[in-house]
Amino acid sequence: MTTLYLTHSCFLDHDTGPGHPERPDRMRAVEKVLSHELFAGLIREEAPPASEEDVARVHPPAFLEALRKASPETGHVYIDGDTPMSPTTLNVVFHAVGAAIRATDAVMTGEAQNAFCGVRPPGHHAEPERAMGFCFFNSVAIAAQYARARHGAERVAVVDFDVHHGNGTQAAFWSEPDLFYASTHEYPLYPGTGHRSETGVADNIVNAPLSAGDGGREFREAFRSRVLPELSNFAPDLLLISAGFDAHQDDPLARLNLVEDDFAWATYELAEVAHKCAGGRIVSLLEGGYHLTALARSVGVHVGALMQSGR
Ligand SMILES: [Zn+2]
Repeated sequence: MTTLYLTHSCFLDHDTGPGHPERPDRMRAVEKVLSHELFAGLIREEAPPASEEDVARVHPPAFLEALRKASPETGHVYIDGDTPMSPTTLNVVFHAVGAAIRATDAVMTGEAQNAFCGVRPPGHHAEPERAMGFCFFNSVAIAAQYARARHGAERVAVVDFDVHHGNGTQAAFWSEPDLFYASTHEYPLYPGTGHRSETGVADNIVNAPLSAGDGGREFREAFRSRVLPELSNFAPDLLLISAGFDAHQDDPLARLNLVEDDFAWATYELAEVAHKCAGGRIVSLLEGGYHLTALARSVGVHVGALMQSGR
């Protein structure tokens, strides 16, 4: 039982234009750190494209059609103020979803104990009918629905430690008592959602907002007091992680002060819950993280922790 790493060279092709923080160099930084001999034990696979049927489990066909119509022949089209689409973007986002789908297959069938998807762009801001915040398709929400439809998972959980609230995942899960979403994030901050009072139809949404300036102590307290107990209570068959590393103290987009060790700690804690209720099954997807060195180091400790706990 091992850790699967999925990525694709096309993730370099989503061109966001000069000066955009969500840039191809992020993938180069991730690829470089995971090429170190410490990670020689990873099973490496190229991410396949997802099917339209997979995407349609979260996004209605009209939404996909609108994105197809918006897709430019050259240059960029802005879907919202900070979400540029280039000619290759649609192909790229199908592969980002495909990584999550393939990882779910591998983990649900026992081919791998857990998996990390090194993908871009991120997905957790994408609502069922709205692309926003650098995101087009909500890969983690699609993987959750896929695990239910194709692998008979009854209960699927997403834990999201990206510094931004995953409004898209929350929206996709809101009315689904068998899907669980827990998030730590800086609040208030983009996209503005993630208040503690947002709980879903069956208390299946757990928001643990943190304040600008908070660091590892407050983050771990939020995990210990809210995220981990609620996750254990929910007892998922599969745990998905929206692994954003922009809560790092060096990240330019927000003001939380986590360090690599906090991400390693969170990963081990999540793996422990997954071992208790989900047979250790974890699929982790890269979301944000915009300081290249901090991103590389944080991905390194996160994947290292997945490998250790997958043994
Ligand atoms: Zn983020």
